Formats: sequence, C-alpha cells, structure tokens
Amino acid sequence: MTAGRTGTIGAMEGSNVSRSQTTLRTKVSIEGVGLHSGHPVRARFCPAPAGHGIVFVRLDHARKAIPARIESASTFDFATTLAVGGISVGTVEHVLSAAFGEGLDNCTIELDGPEVPILDGSSLPFVRLFHAAGFERLNAPVRTLPVTQPVEVSRDGRSVSFRPDGPGLTVTYEIDFPHPVVGRQELTVAIRPDEYSARIAPARTFGFARDVEAMRARGLARGGSLHNAVVLDDEGVLSGPLRFRDEFVRHKILDLLGDLALLGATLDGHIVARRAGHAMHIEFAKALAAAAAAPAHSATREPLTEPTRRRATGRG
Ligand SMILES: [Zn+2]
Repeated sequence: MTAGRTGTIGAMEGSNVSRSQTTLRTKVSIEGVGLHSGHPVRARFCPAPAGHGIVFVRLDHARKAIPARIESASTFDFATTLAVGGISVGTVEHVLSAAFGEGLDNCTIELDGPEVPILDGSSLPFVRLFHAAGFERLNAPVRTLPVTQPVEVSRDGRSVSFRPDGPGLTVTYEIDFPHPVVGRQELTVAIRPDEYSARIAPARTFGFARDVEAMRARGLARGGSLHNAVVLDDEGVLSGPLRFRDEFVRHKILDLLGDLALLGATLDGHIVARRAGHAMHIEFAKALAAAAAAPAHSATREPLTEPTRRRATGRG
C-alpha cells in the first residue's frame, strides 16, 4: 500500500492586509527536555515592544541575547541553530514556526539551557501557550518583506521557489520518501492563524529509528524518544498512531515556516517547496532577504553581460 496523497487547505481565501504587530499579554513558561542534550530546559516567554522581534536570551550565559535573525542561522543535524558571538541556541524552528504561524511578532524567550525544549515534537504546545497568554496588538504595522520578483533555489531535484502573487502567504510542499507510510505527499495551505493551529501545529517531527541510533552514538538526540517524534522503521510507525495520515508533509511546512520566521517579516506570495530541508529553507530565506534588499529589476539577469558587450564593441 502506498500513502501518496495530495490536498488543499483553506485555499487562497482571505488576506493578510497589513495588520498590527503583536506581543504576548503576559509572561508564560513551559518546561521540557532538549532534543540533543536530553537535559531539562525551561523556556519563559515575555512581552516585548514593537520592532523588537523574537529574541532568545540564554539565562545560563550572562543573559546573552540571540535574535531570531537569518544572519545568525546555521543548520545542524536536521534542525536550525542560531549563534551570536559563539553562544548558540538550538532546535529553534518549532517555536519560531508557532510564532510565525500565529502572528506573534515580538517576544523575549528566556532559556536556562542551550536548546528550546522539544516537548511533543510539534509546535502545538507553543501555540497553546501563546493562546493562554493572549495577544496584545501594538501600535505599529507588521513589516511585509518587499519581494516583487520570483525567487528560487534548487539542487539535485530539490527546490524552494517564491512567486509574489499574494495577498497573503500560501505554501505548497511536496515530499517523496520511499517508505510504506510516507510515500509521496503534497499539501497546499493558506498560512493564517486558524489554519496553522488546526492543521500544521500538531504535526510532529519524524525520523528513522536507525538514524536516531547513529545520532546517539555521536552524543546527539539524547532527548529524542517515541514521545516527541514520529519514529519509523522500515515497515511502519513505532511511535503509535499518526495525528494525520499526511503528518509528514504537514511537519515539513511547519519547519519551513519556522525557518522563514528568521526573516522578521511577513510574506505575500506562494512558496512551493519540493523535497527540501532546513539547509535549503535557510538558503531560500537568505535569497528572499537578498531579493528584498535589491531593486526589483536588478535581480533579473541582464542579457548584456561583459563578453556580449565586448563582442558588441568589437563589431562596432
Ligand atoms: Zn521539525
């Protein structure tokens, strides 16, 4: 039996007309273990002013501040890590996905360890925490990344592309794993808080038992368990029932949104990702940031390259 499936959720209706920036109404905290260290870690979410963005603070490192910015990102063993001045915070993508999906723009996230807790492997616990705190609108408009031309990164049959056909952000993701419960899965979702919390946030990270063993041998994934990931062997799922039959592709969308959160802005357009992962997501986010920084016409390749001009001069 193959599990190839496609679907569309909340397609294209509604739009993100420039909303106000938000923060949390009150401080809230949550505890869990770090995926790699296996150590307990506490995360406390504090309100922050407009323009502050999402900033991690390492309480165990003299309150070192690590802003959730694309310049600070590196990818490491299927997860995204941020580092400033040699101090890092790991496994940031699920909490950042929750912030991006729910429209939380400004927050200080205090941590007493090197990683965000993995919790159940999804972003749902963070979404519930944000809802418990409540959102406060701030007196400043949210920034939309000004990208007016198509952007694409691709390599070895993997790709992520952007077309500036908003309003609002729509994501299409396709994965294809040769595995009886995964197979080919494709999903298109309009990224709005209601769709995000219902359809994307509950989707858990997934991995193969044999990879977990290899990572443990290198001192990684010590906090990984059947309680915080969908764990697969060659035939099936070891960790109990799936939350969605296409939970895998939903989690890929969750991860992509967490990596896009590092842009510190919303997006208007349609992103299509095929068989990508964190490294390519980050590369794509950097390409979007570069496109936003450049005037629209300069991003398209000019036909008049140096050799052409020399030839033209030679003929003249
Ligand atoms: Zn993930």
